Amino acid sequence: MTSTLLRGRTLSFVRWPETIDDHSAWRYEEDGGLLIRDGRIVAAGAYAQVEKQAGEGARKIDHRPHLLLPGFIDAHAHFPQMQVIASYGAELLDWLNTYTFPEETKFANAQHGRRIARLFLDEMVRHGTTTVAAYCSVHKASAEAFFAESHDRNMLNIAGKVMMDCNAPDGVLDTPQSGYDDSKALIGEWHGKGRQHYAITPRFAITSSPQQMEMAGALCREHPDLHMQTHLSENHAEIAFTQELYPWSRDYTDVYEHYGLLGKKSLFGHCIHLSKREADALSATGSVAVFCPTSNLFLGSGLFDYQRFRRRENPIRIAAATDVGGGTNYSMLRTMDEGYKVIALNGEKLNPFQSFWQMTRGNAEALSVAEKIGTLDAGTDADIVVLDARATPAMRLRMETVETLAQELFLLQTLGDDRAVREVYVAGRAAKTDMAT
Ligand SMILES: [Zn+2]
Repeated sequence: MTSTLLRGRTLSFVRWPETIDDHSAWRYEEDGGLLIRDGRIVAAGAYAQVEKQAGEGARKIDHRPHLLLPGFIDAHAHFPQMQVIASYGAELLDWLNTYTFPEETKFANAQHGRRIARLFLDEMVRHGTTTVAAYCSVHKASAEAFFAESHDRNMLNIAGKVMMDCNAPDGVLDTPQSGYDDSKALIGEWHGKGRQHYAITPRFAITSSPQQMEMAGALCREHPDLHMQTHLSENHAEIAFTQELYPWSRDYTDVYEHYGLLGKKSLFGHCIHLSKREADALSATGSVAVFCPTSNLFLGSGLFDYQRFRRRENPIRIAAATDVGGGTNYSMLRTMDEGYKVIALNGEKLNPFQSFWQMTRGNAEALSVAEKIGTLDAGTDADIVVLDARATPAMRLRMETVETLAQELFLLQTLGDDRAVREVYVAGRAAKTDMAT
């Protein structure tokens, strides 16, 4: 069996780095090696050691002086919104009604869905993202298109058809029964097929009737190992409308709580304006709050309180995400650059090690897939990104004055984008090169 031996500066996290000097939180090899066989990392460490295990026939690829990290993970994005991104001048509800819902009606056409799924995953790979938790459109065909494309590329992705049966145009509505049936069929067809994971995906409380919320809860009970993804507390008008639709609820979170949608595999996009009770409910259930900085800034939604969520007595699990097309960039580097600024506006800092932990191991833990992805540990899937901190003239110039790994990572985050991504391995396959040829 052929194996591949990668050489470069390897960086992988063991746990959350408390400070910039918390060296035992990561493993860094100046001359590192990764031995890949059958789509998995079978050995990692100092190159000289790993090379000994490689055997005669191993294909050697030298990425020096570049950095090898686990592939980036994007915990929330909408694949049908590639032609919505960069739409001017609206807050959340107007943005959905004016741009997003009309665009998503096009995904009734399976051919359109297949085209956009292909281009979306191209864009993910181009930006170094090897796993995404994606919302499809309401149409079953859109999820089929996404999973077929993802499976063809052997990517570990999480996705689901959105369930939405009210407060949107007819072209993007299902019914409580059809939403349930289509989700059920998609779970049967795709969940656990290769590296595919299905996520039960009620879009948000506003576009699901109480009957549909019941059905979403039923799906979660019937499939407790599945992810559930939705939106929570993004925007004040959204919160007020939710309160009108569910007048009995104590708050927005209570709506999801009532239908049994909180839990360790539940991913809540945004979580900006949570009360203490809501934050307690998320932490008590191990639910995940998904930080989408470019989207929150672009739609003027508010500032996610990252450090306060981490520091509270009962911390909230956090993931980070692009939220394309409310988000404005496909890159997790660009995302965490904006994340840094959001956190700064809250009077806090996120150091570069914490930031790269979040994009890799942190998101893998939040998505409960850390045994498979998010590190360079032996035994995990070989999803790897190769980063070049001298990718542009401005980066090259700035690198002249960079002396530490922390400074280099911060430069990559602040000035980097898809140009800094030299190669991407998906289950050991050079996917960025494959795309270009
Ligand atoms: Zn979203």
